[in-house]
Amino acid sequence: MATTYSICVIPGDGIGPEVTGCAQRVLDALQDSVGGPAFAFEQHPAGLTAYNDIGQALPAATLDAAKSADAVLVGAMDVAALPPGVPEPLTGLRTQLEVHASVRPSRTMPGVPAPSGDIDTLVVREVTEGVYSGIEYQAGPDAACAVRLVTRQASTRTARIAFQHAIERRGKVTAVHKVGALKLTDSLFLEAVEHVARGFPQVEYETRNVDACALEMIRAPEDFDVILATNTFGDILSDVAAGLAGGLGLAASGCVGERWAYFEPVHGSAPDIAGKGIANPMATVLSAAMMLRHLGERASADAVEAAVTAVLVAGSPRTGDLGGSADSQEVTDAIIQALSTPV
Ligand code: ATP
Repeated sequence: MATTYSICVIPGDGIGPEVTGCAQRVLDALQDSVGGPAFAFEQHPAGLTAYNDIGQALPAATLDAAKSADAVLVGAMDVAALPPGVPEPLTGLRTQLEVHASVRPSRTMPGVPAPSGDIDTLVVREVTEGVYSGIEYQAGPDAACAVRLVTRQASTRTARIAFQHAIERRGKVTAVHKVGALKLTDSLFLEAVEHVARGFPQVEYETRNVDACALEMIRAPEDFDVILATNTFGDILSDVAAGLAGGLGLAASGCVGERWAYFEPVHGSAPDIAGKGIANPMATVLSAAMMLRHLGERASADAVEAAVTAVLVAGSPRTGDLGGSADSQEVTDAIIQALSTPV
């Protein structure tokens, strides 16, 4: 009997339900096509739709379900449209699941032109603190403040993940900062990272200012292996890396802690194309492949990644973001077809 994994799906808002639906179809096809595992999916609400429907952006029942599942697959949450004062559900999910770092691979894909030369990077981003810590206040009628929280504990934990990945990759970590302007917070961040770096003498370690790093990523993407960053810098640089590797429609991510993990595409809820059925499902399908790897289902993860690659190499079908005119279901059909006909 094949293993059955319980997966908590949080479709969220906008294109979130569309792309998680596609990823579920691909996961469901694994058993018949490659003898992979089976899945029991449970859908749970969170995000703007949940807030509008039930008055909570991150219901306690969703958190309980996420904690008791084998893994969690998230679509996208429209946090920007939540009213001020509503606790940010993604940060809440990350804090509650005790996942402090997001891991975002970006690699030039066959058949997808790289705008700036080949890239193969992994952005490891702290995801619970920094400017997105949610500590904001009005400082008078014409001023407002956001607190940039950086702790040694979260920085150390994130750095460890970055260095561990570097060992399995090309052995280089670039820590990103702006210590000249953020003297206390980024000094603490770099101090914590350097402490971790001393335990990984085989890994080449360098630091770069965030602005210079963005420029160099575009000018010489091949110089970068693992990029380690605080929350906001990592948010921006992982989008830069995604853009250099073929766009948000292909960018996957995973947040892995000691007990729990969740996986989601890097893109947001894309309200401009939501409901049209034309979102690229590949980022979510590749996030599901990361989830499979995390579950120890390496062969299935390889099969899903190979199927996505085969569809890209074939040149069609493709969604609009990759220059095609196919819809999400047509691309999903092609991925499922490619699972059964490996190259
Ligand atoms: P967030 O703040 O949550 O990152 P955002 O509004 O900055 O969200 P996205 O929602 O990711 O950004 O959308 C940015 C652009 O990329 C939009 O034009 C959107 O249509 C496009 N986009 C995002 N995801 C996809 C996708 N899966 N397929 C096609 N286009 C996408």
